[in-house]
Amino acid sequence: MNDFNTERQSRYLMVVSFTLLPILSLVLITVFVFFHPIFEKMEFIADTIYEEIRPVRVLQKALITSMMGPNDYLLQGKMDNKKLWEQSKDEVNHYFKVLIDNPAYVDEKSKLLYLRQEWNSCMLLGDQIFQLKVVGLVSKRSAELMEEFDLRVETVSEDLDSFASYREEAVSRAYSSIHDLKTKTIIATLGAILLGMISGVFGSIWLARNRKQMIEFVTRDALTGAYNRRALDDALHQLNGDKGSFAALLLDLDNFKSVNDTYGHDAGDLVLKYFVEETQKVLRSNDLFGRYGGEEFLILLYDTKLEHAAALAERIRKSVESNTVYLPSSGAHHSLTVSIGCAASDGSRPSEETVRMADKAMYKAKQSGRNQVVVAE
Ligand code: GH3
Ligand code: MG
Ligand code: MG
Repeated sequence: MNDFNTERQSRYLMVVSFTLLPILSLVLITVFVFFHPIFEKMEFIADTIYEEIRPVRVLQKALITSMMGPNDYLLQGKMDNKKLWEQSKDEVNHYFKVLIDNPAYVDEKSKLLYLRQEWNSCMLLGDQIFQLKVVGLVSKRSAELMEEFDLRVETVSEDLDSFASYREEAVSRAYSSIHDLKTKTIIATLGAILLGMISGVFGSIWLARNRKQMIEFVTRDALTGAYNRRALDDALHQLNGDKGSFAALLLDLDNFKSVNDTYGHDAGDLVLKYFVEETQKVLRSNDLFGRYGGEEFLILLYDTKLEHAAALAERIRKSVESNTVYLPSSGAHHSLTVSIGCAASDGSRPSEETVRMADKAMYKAKQSGRNQVVVAE
């Protein structure tokens, strides 16, 4: 039994691991193969945007804003705009410095220095605008100045685009590879779920098949294939719970010891097998035929009245009596007989008591000369 339990446990463990394995592998694959690069790429995007692209965009915004001061001054003549212009210059200079000092732009430093020089010229133009005494686009000079100032500032801002755009391309490449990884993750997840389901289904089928074998293994007598004592005890226990009516036949082979003594133990085993096979032929499919001990058998006949049970017992007795067992080891044809005790219950008393009654009746059959059926009173 211990062997059986160990085997059953290991089978369950195998099925559980078959089912869990794909799910576990999914977790590992997802974490190491997919999530890790996804997080790395997302980090790259965040870093690129905040550390590299953002200062360019901030500088561009400051450049465009800086145009407001000189433009508004020329149009409205308010000196407040000069203050605004000074602030803008400080801001643009500051953001130029931030960008030039940014290690991510070390390769593009000379280009940035050139653009700052361009900005310096813009500043001179802006300062010149504030030196104009006549406000409004009245003179050709002021119109030209403003046009040149706007154009140059815009050019600097537009030239800065190239610094952001190739980084933005890298970001969009990272985005598309994230999208790629997401698709792969979904495919891998679905694959793992499918695999888990398939192995679960096959595992369950396998387990169900083995369950049948396992039940046979625990409930059958190894030598004869009849039910064993455990199965009989379980059935009796069940009958007590159900309070079902039944009849019990207790069968004991006559002078069986002499078979062993005359032909040997192996021949005795053969006779036991033969007896079970022959008896089985007489029984119905829902009758429970089991080996109660050595050469004693118990048959439980469900919903069967005493007289029907007695008739069946008589049929068994006659069938055993009328046949012989061929024993190849000795070449003998052995005649076998059986004594049968018969009892029935309406379910009102413990099933074991009915079996005891059948046993007593069988004992009486032995005392009365064997090879007969005795019905319990
Ligand atoms: P009775 O008619 O009074 O029942 O006599 P008997 O010889 O059948 O009864 P007894 O109880 O004296 O002997 C039963 C024998 O059954 C003894 C035992 O060795 C034998 N036996 C029990 N189980 C097996 C088995 O599995 N194989 C074999 N070959 N013999 C068995
Ligand atoms: Mg006996
Ligand atoms: Mg016997």
